Amino acid sequence: MSNLQKFIQQTYQKGIAECSNEELYIALLNYTKLASAQKPVNTGKKKLYYISAEFLIGKLLSNNLINLGLYDNVKKELADAGKDLIEVEEVELEPSLGNGGLGRLAACFLDSIATLGLNGDGVGLNYHFGLFQQVLKNNEQTTIPNFWLTEQNWLVKSSRSYQVPFANFTLTSTLYDIDVPGYKTATKNRLRLFDLDSVDASIIEDGIDFDKTDIARNLTLFLYPDDSNKQGELLRIFQQYFMVSNGAQLILDEAIEKGSNLHDLADYAVVQINDTHPSMVIPELIRLLTARGIELDEAISIVRSMTAYTNHTILAEALEKWPLEFLEEVVPQLVPIIKELDKRVKAEYADPAVQIIDEHNRVHMAHLDIHYGYSVNGVAALHTEILKNSELKAFYDIYPEKFNNKTNGITFRRWLMHANPRLSNYIDSLIGRDWHHDASHLEELLEVSSKADVKAELEKIKAHNKRKLARHLKEHQGVEINPNSIFDIQIKRLHEYKRQQMNALYVIHKYLDIKAGNIPARPITVFFGGKAAPAYTIAQDIIHLILCLSEVIANDPEVSPYLQVVMVENYNVTAASFLIAAGDISEQISLASKEASGTGNMKFMLNGALTLGTMDGANVEIAELVGQDNIYIFGEDSETVIDLYAKEAYKSSEFYARQTIKPLVDFIVSDAVLAVGKKERLERLYNELIHKDWFMTLLDLEDYIETKERMFKDYEDRDVWLEKVLINIAKAGFFSADRTIAQYNDEIWHLNA
Ligand SMILES: *Cc1c(COP(=O)(O)O)cnc(C)c1O
Repeated sequence: MSNLQKFIQQTYQKGIAECSNEELYIALLNYTKLASAQKPVNTGKKKLYYISAEFLIGKLLSNNLINLGLYDNVKKELADAGKDLIEVEEVELEPSLGNGGLGRLAACFLDSIATLGLNGDGVGLNYHFGLFQQVLKNNEQTTIPNFWLTEQNWLVKSSRSYQVPFANFTLTSTLYDIDVPGYKTATKNRLRLFDLDSVDASIIEDGIDFDKTDIARNLTLFLYPDDSNKQGELLRIFQQYFMVSNGAQLILDEAIEKGSNLHDLADYAVVQINDTHPSMVIPELIRLLTARGIELDEAISIVRSMTAYTNHTILAEALEKWPLEFLEEVVPQLVPIIKELDKRVKAEYADPAVQIIDEHNRVHMAHLDIHYGYSVNGVAALHTEILKNSELKAFYDIYPEKFNNKTNGITFRRWLMHANPRLSNYIDSLIGRDWHHDASHLEELLEVSSKADVKAELEKIKAHNKRKLARHLKEHQGVEINPNSIFDIQIKRLHEYKRQQMNALYVIHKYLDIKAGNIPARPITVFFGGKAAPAYTIAQDIIHLILCLSEVIANDPEVSPYLQVVMVENYNVTAASFLIAAGDISEQISLASKEASGTGNMKFMLNGALTLGTMDGANVEIAELVGQDNIYIFGEDSETVIDLYAKEAYKSSEFYARQTIKPLVDFIVSDAVLAVGKKERLERLYNELIHKDWFMTLLDLEDYIETKERMFKDYEDRDVWLEKVLINIAKAGFFSADRTIAQYNDEIWHLNA
């Protein structure tokens, strides 16, 4: 008997063939946990603490089996017993410990940090219901709690526990660890998730509403509870402080255990602050160090030499600014420290743009990070340039040496080996397996990029993945799609800057064009997927429009054979794996200057979709790598857009008046759409586009439509298209998170592997 057979026999007193998929899942969960429990934890002297409010880790079974080198064997043993690992994996519930790109990035980074053998843990919170689960009903998004913490799960309860003091009470934490085994490495790292025993799901009322004031019972229930009112904002401060106070206590304890006298703390620990949510770790570390007898000046300089900040956005509303009085109410012990840090800044710099506490008594968390950390990085070359030259220019002038770029990356273990095993295996057969550890080897594919048999195989693999997605959607959402159509996919958080509304206007264009008798060469399926923040009304309206269009088109026999719109429900990592492997066209159409990097663009490229995008975020670097012939770029560039904002020169009504655009926008409030939709939502969106259009949809619409039509035409020349596909895959190596993490380590963290 094999180890797995023995394990299952011992667990259930029966063989694999006799077990249900549910039983097999539980057995494999424990089998995998045992295998990684046997790996020693990385013990390097200096350790990275990657603190993040989000870790969008996705399902772990297959990923961990791959990293532990067990996947092929387990899959085969199940298959020999008539079982399918893919079906067993269906039983696992996806943890929704993140929201979008930033959280997924943190998860990819943990995989690469472990794979490179670096000593680095993730630190975050164990949200019992994570972000909400999205349910599409009556052409609208509704939200319910996303249950994921089943009785048996990946968490391992640790014996560590800390006291976290708030203004009126003190809470005691419990720490849970999730093992992060690197890809075929000797050691492992961990994701450390802090939780509170007193949290109580029974306070959840309708949907995802709950008593926001009952902190002891609500603290780790949800990620990003609605913060459109004061109680919601206070709760976020409670959550953030709970996260960083636990994290800071963990950092000090682990350093002391390894022999630190705290004066030398920076030799033992480095903290990466992922976006502004963990910024309070800076005053908290200073507070804890001074409480242990270190002078304030020294404490500040210790903390400054061990904290680094990653900026993820230039959208002003996303850079947190907490009213000082809110901090007084929740964490009064930090306020004197923050005031002192602000006083030192004001003593040195008169420019109000760089102050921590502004004239309205709001605390700018990013400013705290920049003054009192030693590194500030953007997440794509263009983004970092925009930070240096405009958004954070006042800081760049003071601290040019702190600014650096780290273009995002993705882990190829999950986004190629797991999401697209056929392609992954085929690449192995063409160029060997060196790319598993050094993704730049994918460039060897360029040598075979013109070969007819290689193109034929790529075509087959894509067709297989399309059928797989079709089956998945049929089972999970009950929709039928045409696997012989072109798969045109836009999956990401719903946000006006990402411009799903522009894609919807293209759908309207295509619908009207088909009605006018212009039948496309091949049917097109347009996929959307993404959640909208519950308090973000226009984003909800955009989802509504997409769902209405889907219904109008499906009910129109003149158009439905050629065009279909599918809104994939509850977009998450699992859905992404199916969609990305099956995509032909990768929609990356944000308003230039607004998407810091994007990582969806990288996943699609790696899986053989061609990018339709603006010169924004990492699209710019994709275009440089593959060349203009192998990517479809349209729209105004970031300089033009930044200039339009500066001069307040964009008038959407002028674009609306154009004969090419007006009928498309008007269709939003046409009888056909109103018949299946809500007047209030549709009219609001229509008016928004004509009178405001803050993210300049109409500016790029004509160019978008032309470029997309050209893309559909090019798709028909399979020989040329597939050559472009291969070049994209070959050039994707740069976007391996292993490359990104090697750069973080060489230039910021300086850990020893
Ligand atoms: C990659 C990923 C994202 C980020 O997508 P972008 O297109 O970069 O915004 C968001 N959500 C999930 C589930 C992902 O896998």
